[in-house]
Amino acid sequence: MEKQEQKVDVVDVSRQRTEEGRQELYLYSLRKMAEQNVDKNRNPLTQLHNLRSFFYLGDEIIRQHPEQQYAVITLDIAQFKAVNEFCGRDAGDALLLTIAHALQRVEQERPMSIAAHARADVFALMTVYREEQELVDIVLQLKAAVDEFPIDCKVLPAFGIAASGEETPAVSYLKDCATMAMNTIKGKFYASYAFFDQKMRRQQMLEKKIENSIVAALKNEEFALYIQPKVDMVTGQIIGGEALVRWIDPQQGVIPPGEFLPVLEKNGFVINLDCYMWEQVFRMQSRLLAEGGRLVPISINVSRVHAYDKGFCHTLCRLSEQYQVPASYVPLELTESAFLGDEQRMYNRMKFLQGKGFQISMDDFGTGYSTMNMLKNQPMDEIKVDQAFIRDLESNGKSRIVIRYTIGMLQELGTDIIVEGVETEGQKDFLLGCGCRRAQGYLFYRPMPWQEFVELL
Ligand code: C2E
Ligand code: MG
Ligand code: MG
Repeated sequence: MEKQEQKVDVVDVSRQRTEEGRQELYLYSLRKMAEQNVDKNRNPLTQLHNLRSFFYLGDEIIRQHPEQQYAVITLDIAQFKAVNEFCGRDAGDALLLTIAHALQRVEQERPMSIAAHARADVFALMTVYREEQELVDIVLQLKAAVDEFPIDCKVLPAFGIAASGEETPAVSYLKDCATMAMNTIKGKFYASYAFFDQKMRRQQMLEKKIENSIVAALKNEEFALYIQPKVDMVTGQIIGGEALVRWIDPQQGVIPPGEFLPVLEKNGFVINLDCYMWEQVFRMQSRLLAEGGRLVPISINVSRVHAYDKGFCHTLCRLSEQYQVPASYVPLELTESAFLGDEQRMYNRMKFLQGKGFQISMDDFGTGYSTMNMLKNQPMDEIKVDQAFIRDLESNGKSRIVIRYTIGMLQELGTDIIVEGVETEGQKDFLLGCGCRRAQGYLFYRPMPWQEFVELL
């Protein structure tokens, strides 16, 4: 009996070994094939690896030497297009070749390093390191090569550095981190490199989390409509409200829009969210109309991303029709940044919407950069003065002068004015003294769930 069992064991072990051998052979041939492909994956100009083989070769090195620390450095030239345009394509190509040679030099000097040319003016380098200073030295060496390149345009390289530390992540992950760090300083003449740090990691995790949960959150109705009343500071009456989104996450609780809107603006989902919020507002207004309750205009925020979305005028008109709510009860708040792309087209859309009865309000006035020009040319119904504009008026005499004259100018232009973020009696008194009576701020009301607002009305 014992003998038989032993025999079975031997057979099993040898079978296992053959299986392992087969797998190893399979992996070996896959690797060989990949290595042959590596040579096909090169940039035609610089002959450096493209990203595909960069990731493959890098991961192979890490797999073979997991005990080492690795880093990826990325390099991008700000406004490289301008170099091509002003100095010619040949000069642009020569600059790229100079960078490639400098990278190859580093690649040869340092063990376990690979240089890559991702596209146009974007390069990457993977290398082992012990001290972070070594990575800074590499960056300075590469930067010197770019700085010494004889060319008539200003060439501003930006570097991002992501160091693995104790972990051994995939090269593609390190490259993404390095790119993220690089983008924080791209085009800034006072900084040439940035390390990927914990703050960026937290931001990245948050963005990933938001991206992953946004679709479900919309479906599960985790976005709530809050309303902040607008008041007449003379009579104390509520004259309107602003619809503000709140994300009520079952685990985290209330997440403020400042945290998730930038992510949604990046991936375009803000359009879905806005449409959802607008519909809530139209629905609420139509209910109030049907019940014969008091109705005040509830303004909605229109993200600047809508500037690139053809459908948004149509959506607004459809909602007004579907819910039988006159457009004048749903004013639109837009920031100047909505006009930065194709200004003329955006104006035409605004005029169209005004023709349909929508009021247009310029949000966050005083924080942008083309505000004055806008005032001359644009048919805004209302200007919403930003909180930042009035924050220091009690302590800063110059601030009071700027506010007083701005309000005077807007009055002369015949535009309605409302001031945001009024928090103190002092601010209220000063604004009233300037002849401005409409305000929105914590001094009067904080944003509240819409049911509460309806009761308040
Ligand atoms: P906003 O349109 O300028 O909205 C006013 C913001 O100021 C709100 O912040 C409001 O809570 C806050 N606020 C009002 N009074 C005071 C005050 O006295 N003191 C202080 N410290 N803050 C005050 P919130 O709700 O966090 O919204 C931030 C921004 O997010 C909004 O700025 C708006 O640009 C955007 N946003 C909010 N909801 C939506 C939405 O549904 N769609 C889009 N596209 N953007 C939205
Ligand atoms: Mg607003
Ligand atoms: Mg605002």
